[in-house]
Amino acid sequence: MTSVNPTQRPARSVLVTGGNRGIGLAVARAFADAGDHVAVTYRSGQPPQGFLAVQADVTDPASLDAAFAAVEAQQGAVEVLVANAGTTRDQLLMRMSDEEFDAVVDANLSGAWRVARRAVRGMVRAKRGRIIFMSSVVGLYGSPGQTNYAASKSGMIGLARSIARELGSRGITANVIAPGFIDTDMTRELPEATQADYKARIPAARFGDVDDIARAALFLAEAGYVNGAVLPVDGGLGMGH
Ligand code: NDP
Repeated sequence: MTSVNPTQRPARSVLVTGGNRGIGLAVARAFADAGDHVAVTYRSGQPPQGFLAVQADVTDPASLDAAFAAVEAQQGAVEVLVANAGTTRDQLLMRMSDEEFDAVVDANLSGAWRVARRAVRGMVRAKRGRIIFMSSVVGLYGSPGQTNYAASKSGMIGLARSIARELGSRGITANVIAPGFIDTDMTRELPEATQADYKARIPAARFGDVDDIARAALFLAEAGYVNGAVLPVDGGLGMGH
């Protein structure tokens, strides 16, 4: 790609999974505002305006492969991957079914692994790349009723660090953002008492905004010498773990 963004560096080919709403949409907008070529995946609903939108379910490798092929054809191989798609199926451990556990791990952890595996093909060829995994504060903090979700989110840390060790010498970084309680559809679904309980424990005394996460993603996309790191963006809730 030859176009130049407002910061006078070449525009990058960026892909954000789950970029049709919430954190993913804010991240996609931030990269687009920075002058990059941005593609998003959406699974359901309407594709968002202003980006190359490709339909994909991260639990389905064939749909991911087709999505990557479309992105590569339109804006070049992915240079910055934000593996953001994620889901919850909360339930107390004793009541959680195998299906509830497996579905969340398949979407959040295996899904992130699938998109990373597909993205590094082009990154290895280009000898550069940025992979950013959207984990969660609860991956290290724990969360009652979220054994599936917390396990999937802490798994992303081992995933990122292994990629960092495997591909760091090829100019590829893999880092993790651990958002705290961010105001999106996902958290609006939580009971009011749970929301109040979290707010009382956050030193910043407020929930985060999607743009707080977008700024962290922009930083990690720039930071060539930050690799295998976990960046908490949680108002101090996890105290950096
Ligand atoms: P939302 O529920 O608002 O959005 C989730 C996104 O993921 C949607 O775009 C959704 O697509 C997509 N998605 C879910 N499952 C799949 C799948 N199988 N294949 C493809 N896409 C899928 O969540 P948030 O914006 O709040 O969260 C984004 C990420 O940040 C998630 O990984 C979440 O775990 C993480 N996070 C969020 C926190 C918060 O407080 N909000 C805190 C910590 C981490 P569709 O619209 O089709 O459902």
